[in-house]
Amino acid sequence: PELPYPLKIEGPVVKGFGRGSKELNIPTANIPVEGLSVGGREEIANGVYFGWAGLDLGQKGNKELAKSASGNVFPMVMSIGWNPFYKNTKRSVEVHIIHTFPTDFYGTHMKLLVLGYIRPELDYVSKEALIGDIKTDIEIALVSLERDRWHVGELGNEGRWVG
Ligand code: ADP
Ligand code: MG
Repeated sequence: PELPYPLKIEGPVVKGFGRGSKELNIPTANIPVEGLSVGGREEIANGVYFGWAGLDLGQKGNKELAKSASGNVFPMVMSIGWNPFYKNTKRSVEVHIIHTFPTDFYGTHMKLLVLGYIRPELDYVSKEALIGDIKTDIEIALVSLERDRWHVGELGNEGRWVG
């Protein structure tokens, strides 16, 4: 059975697998895999999703970080999948927030309001091909999140959950 949207996932931003997403210029904030239990159910499919991320930027007392954003809610793309590095025994939840931050924010609590599915996980022949697809995911997310139905201000109580 399909999980009902929006899906809500939350957890602290933790260290990832060091795959060098920053080298790709596309950092991904990882949350613990236990955060994957959505309403106690596990059937969320692997793939790329879009939605909103709420970050408690004041939490760490870092003024520079808090000042870098006009609010605490950002567009995001999220990838859920298996990490081959861990021999397919561990799934990861990784979120690229579509915003430029002045510093890292490990330890900050992140709340995700997942509104839709973009595509399954794919294999790539090159880094460039992977980056190309992520750029497309980001465009899809930004266009979708501007639609009335998915605009954070129009989501009522659901939107306030991330804020
Ligand atoms: P890791 O393997 O530890 O997840 P990454 O190279 O993926 O390392 O970088 C992720 C970290 O970068 C996040 O945990 C966060 O602290 C920081 N970061 C900075 N800007 C962003 C962004 N726009 N989206 C996600 N994370 C970001
Ligand atoms: Mg990461």
